[in-house]
Amino acid sequence: MIKKYIPALINLFYPNHCLLDGTKLESNAKFHLCEACFKKIKFITASVCINCGSPIQKEEENKDIKVLNFVCRRCFHSKNWFRFARSACIYEGVIKSCIHLFKYKKKIALRKLFAIFLINSFKLHFGTEKYDLIMAVPMHPFKRFLREFNHSEILACDFSVNFGIKYLKRGLKRTKFSKSQTILNSSQRKKNVKGVFSLSKPHRIRRKKILLIDDVATTLSTVNECAKLLISNEAKFVDVLTVARG
Ligand SMILES: [Zn+2]
Ligand SMILES: [Zn+2]
Repeated sequence: MIKKYIPALINLFYPNHCLLDGTKLESNAKFHLCEACFKKIKFITASVCINCGSPIQKEEENKDIKVLNFVCRRCFHSKNWFRFARSACIYEGVIKSCIHLFKYKKKIALRKLFAIFLINSFKLHFGTEKYDLIMAVPMHPFKRFLREFNHSEILACDFSVNFGIKYLKRGLKRTKFSKSQTILNSSQRKKNVKGVFSLSKPHRIRRKKILLIDDVATTLSTVNECAKLLISNEAKFVDVLTVARG
């Protein structure tokens, strides 16, 4: 019982410690992470699939291909309803732990770190693109009730404030309580999200250029299903930006 409250107590009395390994932070430290932890984050900067933004594997890079126009196997074989997807960093190690703390342990302070990552990734990959609306991948109301917040809404809201782009609050709704995607394989994930979303304000998305935000993209099934619904309801185009790529 007492174990459950130890991290919260440490944070209460020692707020200037790295959230991951407890290292004391410098007075000018940002983001609640020590330098050593921060340095372990792998950012996605170049050599990505032009459609989905997944990093090119080393073996693929060695082939005789034009890296600038590289399309990954997944995008070659399946239909993307979004135009482009990009992510700030690889979903592993430090960033995986940070996202876990943010989503499941209510370390909301990490939103600042994720906001900076999304902003930098946006500038790098979508620099001159203009959007009419920012939207978040929705959570089922019951799950939101249990978790107390939808992490994607927080990310989307912070991002929209930074860029002065309108955030369409809860424009997408999750109408079915589906299983968590984390335990499913690629084809199960596709089935699991099929038809689970609806639009609360369909008239607001017509002819709009939309940037959809989420924390992690792995198989892209969830964002693709959201994009399909938006495009089917006459959105002009949908791009996707996530903090991490699995
Ligand atoms: Zn650390
Ligand atoms: Zn791809």
